[in-house]
Formats: sequence, structure tokens, C-alpha cells
Amino acid sequence: MSSQPRLVEVRQNVLKQNDLLARELRKRFQDADVRVVSLVSSPGSGKTAFLEKALTLLRPKFRVAALVGDLATENDAARLARSGAAVKQIVTGTICHLDAQMVEKALAEWSLEELDVLFIENVGNLVCPSSYDLGEDLRLVLLSVTEGEDKPLKYPTIFNTADIAVITKIDLAEAVEFERAAAHHNIQSVRPGMKVFEVSAKTGAGMDELLQLFSTTRSAQPEQALAG
Ligand code: MG
Ligand code: ZN
Repeated sequence: MSSQPRLVEVRQNVLKQNDLLARELRKRFQDADVRVVSLVSSPGSGKTAFLEKALTLLRPKFRVAALVGDLATENDAARLARSGAAVKQIVTGTICHLDAQMVEKALAEWSLEELDVLFIENVGNLVCPSSYDLGEDLRLVLLSVTEGEDKPLKYPTIFNTADIAVITKIDLAEAVEFERAAAHHNIQSVRPGMKVFEVSAKTGAGMDELLQLFSTTRSAQPEQALAG
């Protein structure tokens, strides 16, 4: 559309390119029968701690791997490698989100057929990751009890583009006077019917229940279990 400012036009093309590539990735994931779960949250919400626990719990039964996006450091990948899972860091430099092309590139040396579950940890950011489809089956938005119950109201788009909300660090809830009812109310007001889990990566509380959602193979998994 000629009336649009050029920058808007460029941005739309970028997103369109991303969507096409994400669609290809999704097809490849399906063909390889690998479940792909992405994590988004603000910095410090406990994505990496959650992921470390998830990889550790899943690894005895499933072939798991993770791609970890970060602006500058490779610390998270080193930390996650302790779980024994295959882990690759995507250092994005100045870019504050992952896109489908970064995911495709990072996967180049891996054989998807050898994986059951692949996690993609996005860069800590509640804004632009919502615009980029990565080809994942499920997107988890994490919200820690230390962040304030109004995060969903401030960042509705990321909640709307995610499939499941995960309240993390629930072991700290009492100490920080987390208002549980308010948090749930805010999530539901932004995204009615959204499935919400409360977990602690530290104590393991709530982890099994959540992991069950995506730890069965695609063919064995009834589709409606993911849809709700
Ligand atoms: Mg991290
Ligand atoms: Zn960004």
C-alpha cells in the first residue's frame, strides 16, 4: 500500500518472510515427529531455570534438546548443558527476539528425527517475540511471582499469542505476597480460557503436570489435549 510509511512496509515484509519460513519449519517438525515448545517472558522470569528442570525431568524418557536465545552471553547454554541434553545458544547481538531464520540456522547440524522434544527459549522480552512465529507447536509465556500481577494487562499481545501461561517461582509466592487470584484474573481477562500452570523449578512443584502436556509423542497425543 503506497500510503504507508516505508518502514511499516519493510516491517510487514519481514514478518511475512518469517511466517513463510516458520510454516516450513513447522512442517519439518511434524514430519520428524518432534514436539517444539517455545518459552517467552521478560528477563529474569526464570525461563532458564524452568528449562533446566524440564530437561532434567524429561531426559530419562525422551530425547530432548534446547535452543537458547540471548542478546550477548552463552552462560545459559552452559548452565543447561548440565542436564545432559543437547543445547545450542543463539546469540542475537542487538536483536531482541528470535526469528524463524535464526532457528533454522541453529538447527542445521541437528537431525530432527533424533529428537522427541525441542525447547526454544526466546530472548527475555515481552514485546516483539509475540510477532515472530518460530514454527513451534506450543508457546509458553512465563510470569514469575516476583514480577507483579499486572504483567498480563501491560503486555496483552504476548499472552494472546501464547498457548499456556506458566506462573514461575511459586515457592516464593508467600514471601513476596503474590496475589494469586489477581494474577489469574488478569490472565483470564486478557485471554479468556487460557490454561495456567503454577510451577517451581526449585522444588519441582507443578512441573510433572505441565510436562505431561508435551512429553508424549505427537502420534500418541490426542490433539484436543493441546487445544484447551
Ligand atoms: Mg535465560
Ligand atoms: Zn525484538
